[in-house]
Amino acid sequence: MSDLRGGIDLGGTKIQTVVVDGEGDVHGEARAPTPTEGGPADVAAAMEDALREAAAAAGVKTEDLGGVGVGSPGDADGKTGVVSGARNLPGWEGSFPLGETLAKALGCEVRIGNDVQVAVEGEYALGAGRGLDSLLGVWWGTGVGGGIVLDGKPWLGRGAAAEIGHMVVKRNGARCPCGRRGCMEAYAGRAAMEAKARRDLAEGVETDLFHVMKKRGKDRLTSSVWEHALRDGDALTESLLRRAIRYLGTGIASAVNLLDVEAVVIGGGLGVRFGDRFMDDLGKEMHKHLFVDDDPPKMQVAELGDLGGAIGAALLVR
Ligand SMILES: [Zn+2]
Repeated sequence: MSDLRGGIDLGGTKIQTVVVDGEGDVHGEARAPTPTEGGPADVAAAMEDALREAAAAAGVKTEDLGGVGVGSPGDADGKTGVVSGARNLPGWEGSFPLGETLAKALGCEVRIGNDVQVAVEGEYALGAGRGLDSLLGVWWGTGVGGGIVLDGKPWLGRGAAAEIGHMVVKRNGARCPCGRRGCMEAYAGRAAMEAKARRDLAEGVETDLFHVMKKRGKDRLTSSVWEHALRDGDALTESLLRRAIRYLGTGIASAVNLLDVEAVVIGGGLGVRFGDRFMDDLGKEMHKHLFVDDDPPKMQVAELGDLGGAIGAALLVR
């Protein structure tokens, strides 16, 4: 057994793996596309292959790792290692014993956690939240996820805490991908923003967004499509991003009024790409709603970058 451990960030489009030491320094990494067909067993097999590749790069066998942590979407049960309802993964509406399956395949202990929570804990331990006692992470991507650290400890509630994307920012507002109305994610999540852009296009609003999408060989509006369209000066792109920022500001300020954390860390695909650019605007939006407005929390973009989710997952192994 070494002090090396594995981390796997299981995303809807890619599987990112790392092998890190006790300090979180990366010794090997590998990534693979997430299977779009089949079922949970196929996804688990792709995860195994990608982690083996990272371990080989680090010069270690998976059996000799101190353990492997996984950040998973859906309802990830840390106690049983079972993942349920991971709807952006193929055939994963039900439950699958991901922890047990990977442990058998890799020959070492495997721990499962929520993808956003482990990424936030990674930032807390090694990134933008170092040295703080409290932190709110807001992961702005396809959806809007969150993670909370209070008094130096993750706050999981009864297992479903920090779903900041489903804070209600407008009663009877826009339909959210979760089926309810008026959630922050209904305005700020990339999936909801794309749906709005398609509706606007159908109503005759001019936009280059979908030309940029096709030109870049994508079938959906990825973070990079939004970035390129913004750079090209597309008016709809700018207005939808500004709208997202307004609602993010409203929801985050409400959460800060409740929790009074020292810092807010913005991560996720859109967050990392646009965080710096829109941080002042986000702060101004929040300011309108902060009850204590003379001492706002520190606002920061996640520091660990693309590998942050996988590094955070590795921290599940203690
Ligand atoms: Zn919702």
